[in-house]
Amino acid sequence: MWVTNLNRLPTRDRLSSWGMQVPTACCICSTNPESRDHLMLSCSFALTLCSSPSAPMQLRMLVVQALVYSVWRQRNNMFHNQLITPPLVVFRDINRHVINTINAFRTRKKFKDLMIFWLI
Ligand SMILES: [Zn+2]
Repeated sequence: MWVTNLNRLPTRDRLSSWGMQVPTACCICSTNPESRDHLMLSCSFALTLCSSPSAPMQLRMLVVQALVYSVWRQRNNMFHNQLITPPLVVFRDINRHVINTINAFRTRKKFKDLMIFWLI
């Protein structure tokens, strides 16, 4: 997560800026240059997976962490193996991760009632 936050992901635009001869188009959608901001904020794959901005902060943070991990994992799967997993399948993994995390910490005050927000 901190690598993403500090914009240290080896995205194609960064690899190119380091002199590597790689295409700069996004591995997933090929419509824009692959940068951190594109991958995490505007790529069609990430947008398909995003959650509601009206959800509680704790839930949004949990989802963002799972989302960043999943988008980067998908990007690497496309970059190295030329395989793409449909967003719905990725969402199932994120859903399972969020449910498991909420269940694991359900006795903590911050996580109380998050399951209701997640499931509606
Ligand atoms: Zn993209």
